Amino acid sequence: MKQQAKPRPTLESFLTGVVNGDRVVLAQAITLIESHLPEDELLGAALLEKIMPHTGNSVRLGITGVPGVGKSTFIESLGHVVLKSHKKLAVLSIDPTSPIGGGSILGDKTRMETLSKQPRAFIRPSASMDTTGGVAQRTRECMLLCEAAGFDVIIVETVGVGQSEYAVKDMVDFFLLLMLAGAGDDLQGMKKGILELADAIAITKADGNNVAAARQAQAIYAQALHTTRAGASGTSPVFTTSAVSHTGIEDVWKAITGFVAEAKENKSFDRQRKRQYATWLRDQFADLLKADVQQFDEVRTAQALLESEVTSGDRSPRSAASELLTTYHRAIRSRN
Ligand code: GDP
Repeated sequence: MKQQAKPRPTLESFLTGVVNGDRVVLAQAITLIESHLPEDELLGAALLEKIMPHTGNSVRLGITGVPGVGKSTFIESLGHVVLKSHKKLAVLSIDPTSPIGGGSILGDKTRMETLSKQPRAFIRPSASMDTTGGVAQRTRECMLLCEAAGFDVIIVETVGVGQSEYAVKDMVDFFLLLMLAGAGDDLQGMKKGILELADAIAITKADGNNVAAARQAQAIYAQALHTTRAGASGTSPVFTTSAVSHTGIEDVWKAITGFVAEAKENKSFDRQRKRQYATWLRDQFADLLKADVQQFDEVRTAQALLESEVTSGDRSPRSAASELLTTYHRAIRSRN
């Protein structure tokens, strides 16, 4: 017998559920936002429009670091500190794993087990980086949903191996980089530029025999930050932390809340958020344009043809691109 499809929640029931902090509805709303089905996209967009007045009242914190640096253990430990002083904490993860490579860097293992049992914590495991930009947009939207649901601290976690950390930096108020001790000045395969994104660095696993190495790394990164930020006022704080012995974590949280309070006071908090919203609009528009272009068979056909001409050296990319644009404009006119 054919199974009856469950009735879709209405816009009103989504809105009421999210704003009342109903976790089941929040999870459904996030699934809706992540869906590529046209009818879901319409409903998702309408829901986002409705929740906007309920958003913006959280501290948005980005956390990044290479696999194994201790992100989930750190967030678990930080989460308990956060919950002591804040009402609700949401953790969203971006997994930059390429769908071609297969497998997930963040892994299928159960992460943040004790935190996920806390009634005031909400953990949403990894959305995969399936399209460039797409995941970042959706994570921003999930963040808004969580804010509308009353979460007052939102952590966006990502693996520091690709481009996703740049996307995360653009959506948070404070960006924390986790580093391992003992890797000296090679920056553990990360681009040096990533140091410039960081508002603070935590050297993780500063316990047992690792304490001295962690202190040493702390000095190296403090120096590196100083160098990359020559001329800028103030250097980022570099901390040593251990999620196992629970040391240094409270200091990191104090630094974050201190930073946010100061940024609100001197209005840089608002300015940064405004810049981020403007970027968000531009990114969203660029994504829409890309998707629109690809809708037309004639554009796709012309693109394939022009690509072969360009790669065989018969055609300059500039004139090919311009012809493609003309094809696209023609396609739009004939659609209207
Ligand atoms: P992620 O891949 O960055 O999320 O890293 P995990 O949080 O899964 O941690 C990777 C490994 O490091 C695990 O085996 C953890 O138990 C271990 N680990 C994490 N934090 C600490 C710490 O503070 N001290 C020590 N000694 N080990 C830790």
